[in-house]
Amino acid sequence: MRQKIVAGNWKMNKTLEEASILTSELMGMVADEVKGNVKVVLCTPFPYLYPIKQQLGGNARISVGAQNCSEHDSGAYTGETSVGMLKSMGIPYVIIGHSERRQYFGEDGKLLATKVDKALAQGLTPIFCCGEPLEIREKGTHEQLVKQQVEESLFHLSAEALQKVVIAYEPVWAIGTGKTATSQQAQDMHSVIRKHLASKYGAIAENISILYGGSVKADNAKELFSCADVDGGLVGGASLKSREFVEIIKGIS
Ligand code: PEP
Repeated sequence: MRQKIVAGNWKMNKTLEEASILTSELMGMVADEVKGNVKVVLCTPFPYLYPIKQQLGGNARISVGAQNCSEHDSGAYTGETSVGMLKSMGIPYVIIGHSERRQYFGEDGKLLATKVDKALAQGLTPIFCCGEPLEIREKGTHEQLVKQQVEESLFHLSAEALQKVVIAYEPVWAIGTGKTATSQQAQDMHSVIRKHLASKYGAIAENISILYGGSVKADNAKELFSCADVDGGLVGGASLKSREFVEIIKGIS
């Protein structure tokens, strides 16, 4: 049975006070309204990780995640945050390879493989993102590209390590654009990813949670999450509003 996960990627939004209000609203709504075994992860900006974690206390349903990490362990890397630092704060998840990191910060598959290794070595769960830009989708080579992204950053892992990774398929043309993949497009790509994992790792591919991301909203979440190979979502804009985000979470629970 694969773990269902709905993660909110807050990106570079909210003041500390706003973040705290959103968290307290979510704690109440999730406790009152969300049934079933779904994990909720709040991927906050770095400075809010620890205060939000403290606010959540021992909340069994909601935890926190970072949006990125350094590929280095420590040292003279001004402005960076290591996985060891995240571990020391008890942060369980980290997003690796979000398309905005690939696009704006030039992160490539090899670098992301190192970040995945660092996260796993410190016991954090990487949420590894893959997905094609619009021009690749239009050329029809999206399956090839996404398989390559998965291969470059994950295929060096042992089967045991791979089972600790969560994958998020996020078509770049659907991120922050209001343009969602259809449930058929999402299912097709999730199935391609799972089969590709199975070609190397066999049956354990069935245990890997693959999340969909790209303009997930309250009104399309249920349909997307009902696809056989979609195990939850990575949600950007819509995770910034408590009511909308909880309705999305309820779409899988
Ligand atoms: C994201 O940032 O990962 C994302 C999917 O954003 P949005 O939901 O706003 O498209």
